[in-house]
Amino acid sequence: ESLDKGLEKSKDSFFGKLGKALVGKSTVDDEVLDNLEEILVSSDVGVETTLKIIERIQARVARDKYLGTTELDRILREEIAVLMSESNSQDVAEFETPSDKKPYVIMVVGVNGVGKTTTIGKLSAQFKKKGRNVVLGAADTFRAAAVDQLKLWGERVGVPVISRGMNTDPSAVAFDAVKEGLDRNADVIIIDTAGRLHTKVNLMAELTKIKRVMQKVIPDAPHEVLLVLDGSTGQNAVIQAREFTKATEVTALAITKLDGTAKGGVVIGISDEFKIPVKYIGVGEKTEDLQVFNKTEFVDSLFK
Ligand code: GDP
Repeated sequence: ESLDKGLEKSKDSFFGKLGKALVGKSTVDDEVLDNLEEILVSSDVGVETTLKIIERIQARVARDKYLGTTELDRILREEIAVLMSESNSQDVAEFETPSDKKPYVIMVVGVNGVGKTTTIGKLSAQFKKKGRNVVLGAADTFRAAAVDQLKLWGERVGVPVISRGMNTDPSAVAFDAVKEGLDRNADVIIIDTAGRLHTKVNLMAELTKIKRVMQKVIPDAPHEVLLVLDGSTGQNAVIQAREFTKATEVTALAITKLDGTAKGGVVIGISDEFKIPVKYIGVGEKTEDLQVFNKTEFVDSLFK
C-alpha cells in the first residue's frame, strides 16, 4: 500500500486521464487510440514506446475485430507488462545479493541531485536490516557535500564510510573501499561516484579507471553498475540514461522521486528503450522509501 501511496500522483494523472478519455465510448476506435497516445506521451512514456503500445493494441483490435473500452484497461496493463518483461524478465530479489559473490560490489553512477546518495543510504539500511555487512566508498571526491552526506547516512545506518580528502583520485577511494570491505569481511560494498556529465569523455575515462582499479582487489568487480535516475525529470532522465550507457556498462536502474511526479510513465519508456532491469524505485526521502521494483505491482498501481 505504500507503493500505491507513493505513486499516487503518477496514477492520478496517468490513468485518471484514461477514464476521462473513455467517457461515452464503448469501443476502442481511432479516436480512443489517439487519446490514449496523447495520454501516454504526456505521462512521459516516450514517443517510441507509446507508438509500440498503440500498435500492439491496434493489432489486438484488428485480430479480435472488436474491443470494448471496458477491456482497454486490462489489455493496456497486459501490453505494458509484456513490454517491461523484456528488461525485467525476473522479479527483483528483496535486497539480496548472490551468495557466490561476496563481497558483492555495487558501483553507483548518476548525475548530481538525482538522489544517488540517498539511494545508497537507503540501500545500505535495507541490506543492514537483512543482516548484511555493508561498507561504503565515497568516491565522489569533487563535492565535499557528497562525502558529508554519505558519512551522515553511514552514521545513521551504522555502516563505515571510506573516504579521502577532496579532489583525491576517485579510483583511489574505490580501491581503498573495496580493500577495506574485503578486510572487514563485508557482504556488500557500495561505491558512490561523481556524475559530471558535461565532460563525457572524462566520465567514461573516470568510470573505466574506477572499475580497473577495484578489479585489482576483486577481479570481477563491480558486480553491479547501478544508474540512478530522477523519475520526476521525465525525458531528462532518458537523456541521462543515454549518456551513461554510452560511458559504461549499466546493469541495473534505480528510479527515484516517483512520489512527487505525475510522470511515472517514464519508467515504462526507460525500461523499453534501454532493456536494463529497473531494480529499485524511490518513493520518498525516508529510509524505508526505497522499494525493489515489481513490474506487475507497478503497472497495477498506475491503474488503481
Ligand atoms: P545526489 O546528489 O544524487 O547524491 O542526490 P541526493 O541523494 O543528495 O538527493 C537529492 C535530494 O533528493 C535530497 O533532498 C533527497 O532527500 C531527495 N530524494 C532522493 N530520493 C528521493 C525520492 O525517492 N523521493 C523524494 N521525494 N525525494 C528524494
